[in-house]
Amino acid sequence: MNHQRPPTSLTLIPLPAFDDNYIWMLHDGKLALVVDPGDAEVVFAALKRLSLRLETILVTHHHIDHTGGVDALREATGAAVFGPLTETMPEPIRRLQGGDKAVAMGLTFDVIDVPGHTSGHIAYYCDNWEGAPLLFCGDTLFSGGCGRLFEGTPAQMLDSLTKLAALPSSTRVCCTHEYTLSNLKFARAVEPNNVALVEYQAHCVAQREVGVPTLPSTIARELQINPFLRSNQAEVVHAAQQLDPTATDAVAVFTAIRQWKNNF
Ligand code: ZN
Ligand code: FE
Repeated sequence: MNHQRPPTSLTLIPLPAFDDNYIWMLHDGKLALVVDPGDAEVVFAALKRLSLRLETILVTHHHIDHTGGVDALREATGAAVFGPLTETMPEPIRRLQGGDKAVAMGLTFDVIDVPGHTSGHIAYYCDNWEGAPLLFCGDTLFSGGCGRLFEGTPAQMLDSLTKLAALPSSTRVCCTHEYTLSNLKFARAVEPNNVALVEYQAHCVAQREVGVPTLPSTIARELQINPFLRSNQAEVVHAAQQLDPTATDAVAVFTAIRQWKNNF
């Protein structure tokens, strides 16, 4: 989307927080950016360990496990904070909506509106660093799953997921929760004959056994294995029709699958 020269070298790391959150950190050895810092202490510890100064905080939505550390981090570091236009946020914050850009760490992040999990949820996409494009998608897209619909409709969420699915296949998908294994159990129930899913599940089980994050994923991977991006696949449609025999269009299929997952 833009062609600025990327900064020399950035490192991307997931900082585990709470039971299953990740606070994503990008740093250049001096300055750092974090996404959805629900817990300030986790970020302070990483800043100290790596001798970094916090430059920027990106927030995707208003839930406390994504915003709880913002005030303490801003006060201690003076970091600039960006967040969604229409949600209650720890102020002061620079408000963003779809089509806006956030510049941080020498990178430009394109803001994408992704309502569904919450009504004002945004995602941050960056394709001008030296690695594969980056997507910070909060609780919208998970590996093998998607966020619960707390404030939005199934049609909104499907539309949001469709926007993310259209990003370049190499895009690194940085989700905020390590829900992959439970998502994949459900995905297997939806698509028992999906070979890519069987292989990916075995890979993720092995990763978790040695305590390694399954994330980031990629858009290419999610298109192969995530039932919430596959409402047009025959086996997914068939599974949805076990719950709602009238489900034929993508929204009805998505709605039925999301409903099934809520009770899985
Ligand atoms: Zn959330
Ligand atoms: Fe969350």
